[in-house]
Amino acid sequence: MKKEIYLDNNSTTKIDDEVLKAMMPFLQEKYGNANSLHNKGIEVRRELKKAINTIYTELGSNDNDDIIITSGATESINWILKGIYFDKILNSKEKKHIITTSVEHPAVLQTCKFLESLGVEITYLPVNNNGVIEIQDFIDSIKENTIMTSIMWVNNETGMIFPIEKISKICKEKNILFATDATQAIGKIKIDLKNTNIDFLAFSAHKFHGPKGVGGLFIKNSQKLSPLFHGGEHMGGRRSGTLNTAGIIGCAKALELANKNLIKENTTVLELKNHLEDELLKIPHTFVVGEKNQRVQNTCLISIRGVEGEAMLFDLNKAGIFASTGSACASEDLEANPILSAIGSDKELAHTAIRLSLSRFNTKDEIDYVIEVFKKSVKRLREISSSKIDN
Ligand code: PLP
Repeated sequence: MKKEIYLDNNSTTKIDDEVLKAMMPFLQEKYGNANSLHNKGIEVRRELKKAINTIYTELGSNDNDDIIITSGATESINWILKGIYFDKILNSKEKKHIITTSVEHPAVLQTCKFLESLGVEITYLPVNNNGVIEIQDFIDSIKENTIMTSIMWVNNETGMIFPIEKISKICKEKNILFATDATQAIGKIKIDLKNTNIDFLAFSAHKFHGPKGVGGLFIKNSQKLSPLFHGGEHMGGRRSGTLNTAGIIGCAKALELANKNLIKENTTVLELKNHLEDELLKIPHTFVVGEKNQRVQNTCLISIRGVEGEAMLFDLNKAGIFASTGSACASEDLEANPILSAIGSDKELAHTAIRLSLSRFNTKDEIDYVIEVFKKSVKRLREISSSKIDN
């Protein structure tokens, strides 16, 4: 069989066999609607309740918080930002202000742009060469009318961990709502929501070996947030639409496994990523974005000077290695990635970066093969570009 090495886990992950096994009965014989009053509905409802309890426990949330299952982080993020607009901005006499960063996922950036078109004032904090915001910039950006801050926990391109604890504490002291996009944090960082000042948190199951099209929105103390979807009053009226039973069961199982595997992430995955990174950095004129000890275990965004990221990706793909030049969503157009362009002052980064994101399913043999292919490919591509210059 042709070699296939998947190093694009920040884009999506392979579903864990145990997750699929847990979901299968709900795609086959247990097909009842969880809201039905007959036995076919009751059996599903019972299991769904257990799965939702697991999600609460695994995220460390309290009974008085809400975790609403959604179609994923994009929906949850839209819901947070638009919900705040409906509840706290639309009928307010003064213009309200929201703080976010310039390197959020498009789900946040595009929703913020939409809110701007409705008259909301938005500050997009810059990041430094290390790919993170400066706390002082955040403090300086707070205004009298700041109503909310929305900052990602972990950046999808660089793997850099943002200072969520400090920022949410400042927000709490200043009575500003705090939301975080934790899509890339779950499965990499232990999350214990009862010990945080986070008001809203968004996530997607497919980023931690769960199914696609399912995720969640955490709402602290079940505070008001107008629904995005109105209809049959599912999820206590907070999100209407027949429940995605197999998805919810899969999400709960994936979350349980993700937390169970955190030790493996912090040892095996980290060691493999460090081995890969250390070897690739031996290639002249390469650098990796972000301090190693401030990054999640699995991510390495490497820039190879003089080599187009797209050309590199093509070579890797030919050898059965799947990586990325940036966010899967952004790479549909081959323009410079706007998020990479926002990192520091490095103009070349957006064109020369390759993102390698590992998972607990990668092996040492795979990584050694990747190193070999990578080195050969850089040599080949640099020879081509220098012969073009010579001619
Ligand atoms: N936020 C971050 C940081 C992401 O990496 C992604 C997916 O790439 C999303 C949000 C959106 O997730 P989904 O496409 O599952 O809605």
